[in-house]
Amino acid sequence: MRRGLVALTLAVFSPVAVVTAEEAVALRAAILLDGRGGRLEDARVVVEGARIVSVEAGAARFVPAGGSRLYDLAGLTLLPGLIDVHAHPAWYFNRSGRLHTPQDGDTPAQGALAEAGNLYATLRAGFTTLQSPGAPEDKDARDAIARGEIPGPRLLTSLEPLNEKTGGPEELRRAVSQRKAEGADFIKIFASKSIREGGGQTLSGAQLEAACGEARSLGLRTLVHAHSAESIRAAVMAGCTQIEHGVFATDQVLRLMAERGTYFDPQCSLVFRNYLDNRAKYEGIGNYNEEGFRAMEKAIPLAVGVLRRALATPGLPVVFGTDAVAGAHGRNAEDLACRVQEGGQPAMDAVVSATSLAARSLGLQDEVGVLAPGMQADIVAVEGDPSRDAAALRRVRFVMKAGRVYRNEAAPSK
Ligand SMILES: [Zn+2]
Repeated sequence: MRRGLVALTLAVFSPVAVVTAEEAVALRAAILLDGRGGRLEDARVVVEGARIVSVEAGAARFVPAGGSRLYDLAGLTLLPGLIDVHAHPAWYFNRSGRLHTPQDGDTPAQGALAEAGNLYATLRAGFTTLQSPGAPEDKDARDAIARGEIPGPRLLTSLEPLNEKTGGPEELRRAVSQRKAEGADFIKIFASKSIREGGGQTLSGAQLEAACGEARSLGLRTLVHAHSAESIRAAVMAGCTQIEHGVFATDQVLRLMAERGTYFDPQCSLVFRNYLDNRAKYEGIGNYNEEGFRAMEKAIPLAVGVLRRALATPGLPVVFGTDAVAGAHGRNAEDLACRVQEGGQPAMDAVVSATSLAARSLGLQDEVGVLAPGMQADIVAVEGDPSRDAAALRRVRFVMKAGRVYRNEAAPSK
């Protein structure tokens, strides 16, 4: 009865919505991971418009009702669209095969197309939501994706990050409200140096309290780049939402994060290996020098060690973020496989960290990250079972975002 009423209301006010609602789409697959740790066999998901309407097990002999379409993803595993809470889609290699910089003569159109390409590669790799901390260019990309004009993951951006050059507490507060006015989805703050420069603290407790306090009062989350234990402690005590990287995190600050409910986003190795694999494309630009590359090589075992200790810290919410830069877009799932293979994380937990837990860290837990009725139809299918073999996450065959299919390489049904 209520359904009929809704349809009637839509018919009166929005005939287009009724047409979409009639085109129910069913997906059938061998296995389904719900994003919260649940696993179903012979699963069926029904989607209407942009949302999931049902998720069921034991649907092996399911025949779709007349008029509705079926994606028969027989041998594949369905899971929620993946979420990377830290990537830089605006970073790309220019026509000379070097990291793009504002001085390299590339036109704004070349930069925009490169970012669109990175976002498309990321979406095809099964990532339907991406958080970028951040670049001013992200805003137009985010809005074009949201309007359905170009393919890409749902994009959240901090726009230009804040750092020690922003100024003292007063300037930082002003910069936060300026970002809010410019349309930032959250605030990114550098509280320590880069790993290439030792990772020491660069913002004081007072500066962090000003920035994170102002953001909180404006309803914005704060992501803080912090490597040293001191910079992490200062950010956590200032009430910032999430710590990025944390290569030098001690057990003490990991426990402090857990106590305060601060999200932690460590990387496993993709970001470092990508820099080292593409050394010639970065070397000679800023702190990408001999010393910087040596520091990144040393960071790999440290990062895996921190990840292991973070995962062993009771109650610490460890979310999934790759810090993907030029050369790593579309390879995001490699870091999830690394977490399992090198960090020792149970494969199902790794999936949860990049789905429901990541969604919660973004405040999007009622929209994405879980396959359940009412959620956005962000659905990925991979070859194999990622709850047993994380490498399966690199074998994406099907990508749906908000009910639209962007990739379908499943074997055609007989
Ligand atoms: Zn980053």
